[in-house]
Amino acid sequence: MRFGSVKRSVPVSSHRTGYAICNTCNGDGGINGGCWKCGGSGWMYMMFKSGGTKTTQIGYINRNNQKNHGTRGVAGNDHGQVSYKLECLQSGCGAIYGANGTDVFQRKCPKCQGGLPGIGY
Ligand SMILES: [Zn+2]
Ligand SMILES: [Zn+2]
Repeated sequence: MRFGSVKRSVPVSSHRTGYAICNTCNGDGGINGGCWKCGGSGWMYMMFKSGGTKTTQIGYINRNNQKNHGTRGVAGNDHGQVSYKLECLQSGCGAIYGANGTDVFQRKCPKCQGGLPGIGY
């Protein structure tokens, strides 16, 4: 019998961006890690979705040439907002970053247009 083998630790407190606690097993991975939905990881990947307004639809391009790729429901840093994944379409840039839903229509690229730094998405 061997002592001292370290049990694989699962980070329970840190939230993984773009993932949510599995709602089938509530994050414990199911019986013997056999949860069909998350494969036993306890996390499920969130797909990008359009928001409810014109400027938060996937594919929307704002006046600064920033394209919206949708949201995974990750909270933004503005009250009650979710974060959207944006892509800068300016030639030679292509920056990918996150922005609050309310900012999408007027967002400037943090890399080439002097916009605010991106947030998690
Ligand atoms: Zn699960
Ligand atoms: Zn840019």
